[in-house]
Amino acid sequence: MSQYRTFSARDAVAYAQQFAGLDNPSELVDAQEVGDGNLNLVFKIFDAQGVSRIIVKQALPYVRCVGESWPLTLDRARLEAQTLVEHYQHSPQHTVKIHHFDPELAVMVMEDLSDHKIWRGELIANVYYPQAAAQLGNYLAQTLYHTSDFYLHPHQKKAQVAQFINPEMCEITEDLFFNDPYQVHERNNYPAALEADVVALRDDATLKLAVAALKHRFFSHAEALLHGDIHSGSIFVADGSLKAIDAEFGYFGPIGFDVGTAIGNLLLNYCGLPGHLGIRDAAAAREQRLADIQTLWATFAERFQALATEKTRDVALAQPGYASAFLKKVWADAIGFCGTELIRRSVGLSHVADIDTIKDEEMRHTCLRHAISLGKALIVIAERIDSVEELIARVRQYS
Ligand code: ADP
Ligand code: MG
Ligand code: MG
Ligand code: MG
Repeated sequence: MSQYRTFSARDAVAYAQQFAGLDNPSELVDAQEVGDGNLNLVFKIFDAQGVSRIIVKQALPYVRCVGESWPLTLDRARLEAQTLVEHYQHSPQHTVKIHHFDPELAVMVMEDLSDHKIWRGELIANVYYPQAAAQLGNYLAQTLYHTSDFYLHPHQKKAQVAQFINPEMCEITEDLFFNDPYQVHERNNYPAALEADVVALRDDATLKLAVAALKHRFFSHAEALLHGDIHSGSIFVADGSLKAIDAEFGYFGPIGFDVGTAIGNLLLNYCGLPGHLGIRDAAAAREQRLADIQTLWATFAERFQALATEKTRDVALAQPGYASAFLKKVWADAIGFCGTELIRRSVGLSHVADIDTIKDEEMRHTCLRHAISLGKALIVIAERIDSVEELIARVRQYS
């Protein structure tokens, strides 16, 4: 049995030589740690020509961006690898391939996507990938349908729910999304100029009731195996290609959480665009983001519906009209969770570069306020936004 130790670059090379499945493992000679995330070590493993060939990712026993004072379960590496392996079975085109993982070492060896770029950076630079929104909609439909009760036998579903119990990572989401922004907490992080806006969140009983209902659904609705962290920094894009990575928050939860996180990150980018492009050029880019949201939802809903019509065997769930009724609830959930993403990324611990890298302070504060007010509105009126067109109209109204 392999006992946990934190890898050096040399360990990572040796590990990749053993488990990357290459015909000639001695080709791998060098490694560089490139992790820019908050939590883990990510090594690129290079050949003698300096070409990156494979990735070794290892979980650390604490939160990397905070330090050893915030311990964190190593089991998240198993959950990440198993979630990605499961998702790969249903959406191989849009999921990073895991070659090998070891739960004791909390390590995985995966496909190198160095020829792709992280979507968030591209969205900020306003480099447009015309197929990305539809591909993300497809990824979500395939992975979420095939891990739901619409597809799995009830015994199989319950066994899977048990396999993907992820209490410690869920607790992070429960705290960061649903608690911290609505109370005084040392983890919160926002400029003093926004104090009044944040106090208003804490004083808004209607908002907090709606957030309570969302948190309750996050706790209790084991609808499908979620990615759990599908923001634009967990998505690699290239010409005609999109791949999800970084699924350590994977667990069985409400489908609307993944959909809402994805939409929420397009809206965070929408809010930040004037700070990067100027108000005039931002207008056209914003229209593209709204069109992407429309495409993402339409693709997701059509594909999920088609899969349900084709493949659902459960007598009750196959009842004509039930899948579309379910999708209406997923949509309402998604709007609510999207709103919580907008707020927690503006006032909570973890922000997004789409807004945080805006150099002009006034402009940055304006964009933060925009995200907060849009998030608030969406959470409170989620049930009344009954179509993606209506969502887009509301986003325009709050711009
Ligand atoms: P964390 O869980 O710490 O957020 P990520 O899985 O998001 O770690 O990876 C952090 C960074 O490492 C990514 O933003 C990307 O730059 C790089 N990276 C991760 N996986 C790959 C991969 N399969 N191919 C190429 N680069 C990767
Ligand atoms: Mg990440
Ligand atoms: Mg990260
Ligand atoms: Mg991660």
